[in-house]
Amino acid sequence: MFIKLLALVALVVLVTVGVLAANKPGKPAAKPSPGCDTMCTVPHKKTAKGDFEVVKSDAEWRKTLSQDQFYILRQKGTEQAFTGAYWNNHDEGVYVCAGCGATLFASKTKFDSGTGWPSFYMPISLKALHTEKDTAYGMVRVEVMCGRCGGHLGHVFDDGPKPTGLRYCINSASLKFTSAEPASEKK
Ligand code: FE
Repeated sequence: MFIKLLALVALVVLVTVGVLAANKPGKPAAKPSPGCDTMCTVPHKKTAKGDFEVVKSDAEWRKTLSQDQFYILRQKGTEQAFTGAYWNNHDEGVYVCAGCGATLFASKTKFDSGTGWPSFYMPISLKALHTEKDTAYGMVRVEVMCGRCGGHLGHVFDDGPKPTGLRYCINSASLKFTSAEPASEKK
């Protein structure tokens, strides 16, 4: 019995370390990259609580979000790699916040990072995101949040492709895909 328990604990630790390691590659984005406005990596003046445009209580969020969405968006959780709806989505369109509907990323900036999470080299608008330094789990990373509701989206790293060199590593559960073109792209 004790040995089974020990094996179970070891398995949980290994899986956790694996997930964290997969989400860690590269250094956190700390300086502006060519082709990217400095706001890409500079936190907005907003704080995590209180002054986002969309503010709801946890009880209110639970009414509109699934359990997974609430865990990730409102409790800063992370979905398992290669399990989300969009890591392998190659359709053209836009990704909006699953919490508030704000337009966040365009499919044309999505790339195959091999991490198992949807990855983008830039947001649809620099104002769409809010970033903060994240020191959880003994790592220094840059957390990416929805600039409208403060929902946790993922992290941004500086090992992305050109033209920005950034990799926005985002949870599928934080996003909703729509095949409609972003307003700024319509002719
Ligand atoms: Fe949002």
